Amino acid sequence: MAGASVRLDLDGRPIKPMTICMIGAGGFIGSHLCEKILLETPHKILALDVYNDKIKHLLEPESQTGADRIQFHRLNIKHDSRLEGLIKMADLTINLAAICTPADYNTRPLDTIYSNFIDALPVVKYCSENNKRLIHFSTCEVYGKTIGSFLPKDSPLRQDPAYYVLKEDASPCIFGSIEKQRWSYACAKQLIERLIYAEGAENGLEFTIVRPFNWIGPRMDFIPGIDGPSEGVPRVLACFSNNLLRRQPLKLVDGGQSQRTFIYIKDAIEAVLLMIENPARANGHIFNVGNPHNEVTVRQLAEMMTEVYAKVSGEAALEEPTVDVSSKEFYGEGYDDSDKRIPDMTIINQQLGWNPKTSLWDLLESTLTYQHRTYAEAIKQAVAKPVAS
Ligand code: NAD
Ligand code: UDP
Repeated sequence: MAGASVRLDLDGRPIKPMTICMIGAGGFIGSHLCEKILLETPHKILALDVYNDKIKHLLEPESQTGADRIQFHRLNIKHDSRLEGLIKMADLTINLAAICTPADYNTRPLDTIYSNFIDALPVVKYCSENNKRLIHFSTCEVYGKTIGSFLPKDSPLRQDPAYYVLKEDASPCIFGSIEKQRWSYACAKQLIERLIYAEGAENGLEFTIVRPFNWIGPRMDFIPGIDGPSEGVPRVLACFSNNLLRRQPLKLVDGGQSQRTFIYIKDAIEAVLLMIENPARANGHIFNVGNPHNEVTVRQLAEMMTEVYAKVSGEAALEEPTVDVSSKEFYGEGYDDSDKRIPDMTIINQQLGWNPKTSLWDLLESTLTYQHRTYAEAIKQAVAKPVAS
């Protein structure tokens, strides 16, 4: 832990050490959050997940990062009677557990809805009944499509931020029709947000809702065939990393015209730590956490990743680095897409004084350096392996 000096909150009050029950601690965001808490604070973590590969380095007794302050509990929150006891032991619960890869939303809509709504219900209930604070991870996808996407293609209003910037307390949630099962995730997340909000209004639950806007960085998802299923489809960072590592063209779904803002995981985690340590400023709020300055189309992202990867790997890019694929071919029936995601930052600025720092180029450079270092050799060996006859 950094220094023995007393940590102060944003209002100059000493922060008391707390115990945090982190559900989904073994995932991408959880692993970075555990690392940050152990390195920079005196807080204790009860880490709950079905997997722990991404936090193994923190659990080993010889780890320099406070292994005595993290306790891993391998459990599935769908069916484990230990859940309520662990929530009761903690001062704060952070719920990250979810199915959150778009390839699942239209192909496994039932699992997606159960995971993002039904399985989160007991967590909310136990927090509310035991007067425990809850930080729940939702998604920017609850905004769905922008109002501007319904305007004629040549309408000048499309350039007006009022038609596309997404604001927590003002923007509507616009999803496609029911057969577009892509929206099963967004809809389940929206309903759990409404339930948490209602628990706050009617029963006094102290809550904070986080809406991440495409957080990316090391340890995100998996590389198919290396540390995940060969046929698996992770989120775009890992899909494109996999293509680059295997020297295959990057696949642009429906021409890669959708727009996203990407934020470096380490910037985003700073915002979460501020929420954890400033309950008086964070309770009762929904926060966008993203980087409005890092907007690109998916095609531009592919081009930038190709350029950055050539730099960090020392290998020249392919002559034709991208290829177009239809969404039906890539994701199957029922896929649909968010057109554009720019977070309004007013509320998080006002409440927590937080701003992201890292440019898209810089975050891709450090992330792709990690991907190359972690996977390039394993991929070479996998490709060289003779196929069993
Ligand atoms: P992740 O898949 O890496 O992590 C989720 C973790 O939850 C996994 O380790 C998984 O094993 C665990 N989990 C799932 N179901 C569980 C269960 N029933 N019992 C116990 N553990 C379970 O995903 P992430 O990117 O770290 O996302 C964390 C949260 O943030 C999710 O709620 C997701 O919807 C939200 N989110 C993330 C992003 C992003 O940019 N990464 C964007 C929008 C929303
Ligand atoms: N995408 C793509 N090629 C891929 C993977 C994803 O063109 O190999 C697109 C996808 O259709 C979407 C965007 O990249 O428009 C971001 O996808 P991601 O899986 O990261 O999740 P989302 O931002 O849609 O939640």
